[in-house]
Amino acid sequence: MTNNIQNKTVIITGASSGIGEATAKLLAAKGAKVVLGARRQDKLKEITAAIRKDGGKAEYQVMDVAKQADNDAIVKLAKDSFGSVDAIFLNAGLMPSSPVSALKTEEWHRMVEVNITGVLNGVAAVMPEFQAQKSGHVIATSSVAGLKAYPNAAVYGGTKWFVRSFMEVLRMESAMEGTNIRTATIYPAAINTELLDTISDKGTSEGMRALYKQYGISPDRIASVVAFALDLPEDTTVNEFTVGPANQPW
Ligand code: NDP
Repeated sequence: MTNNIQNKTVIITGASSGIGEATAKLLAAKGAKVVLGARRQDKLKEITAAIRKDGGKAEYQVMDVAKQADNDAIVKLAKDSFGSVDAIFLNAGLMPSSPVSALKTEEWHRMVEVNITGVLNGVAAVMPEFQAQKSGHVIATSSVAGLKAYPNAAVYGGTKWFVRSFMEVLRMESAMEGTNIRTATIYPAAINTELLDTISDKGTSEGMRALYKQYGISPDRIASVVAFALDLPEDTTVNEFTVGPANQPW
């Protein structure tokens, strides 16, 4: 059975675990050519090998999304390997949440670098391709913390609110400019991944672990939403998805 995902080249950042890994595997199984980016080479190598073993097409690039040159390099790898780039899933992120009063300033700045600057760098790297070919799909992982304010998530939530605003303006401007660049922003609630490992604040960590233990669902659920967005006909965009456990009030 054919689908609109087949043969698309899709770059995925944050592909070494969790949502990115699940998405890379699902899209490859549906016939996409996936290009995985993250910092941990061992994980990327392992996931790429698993995809290839199952008959899929995959390449990887060790990258830090906070560095523009690394984003440019993964776009080049995608083009050199597969000829063009059809979509980018801006998914790399970290969530060292804590109360503002704890003044974990290094973590605040790292979240800004990865969750905000990382998204900007990815868009800057891929836009010239998308503009030239007059098509492209930018998909980003925000969070339910990008829709509502939560205690302990002043900075994390702020980075995810940024993603929401940026992606909506990108969508509007692309429509106005006639570039056919589509957007999709995903707002996940509790998804069981390695994300909580980034929390250093003891109280926040304990609270979040209890919440995820009660509600958390598999990252496959987000992968299927990315696949849904990519599979839509070229003239259609579904630009916002809020996805979470059916029993989580969030
Ligand atoms: P994981 O921690 O499992 O995945 C995060 C990914 O981001 C890893 O592949 C990590 O790889 C990568 N990453 C982190 N920093 C960088 C960097 N500087 N450069 C490149 N890659 C980086 O968690 P999730 O899968 O949950 O996270 C994916 C996205 O989903 C994040 O943006 C997160 O904020 C968002 N999200 C998750 C929710 C959840 O409940 N899990 C809820 C709402 C949103 P590596 O360490 O190898 O670089």
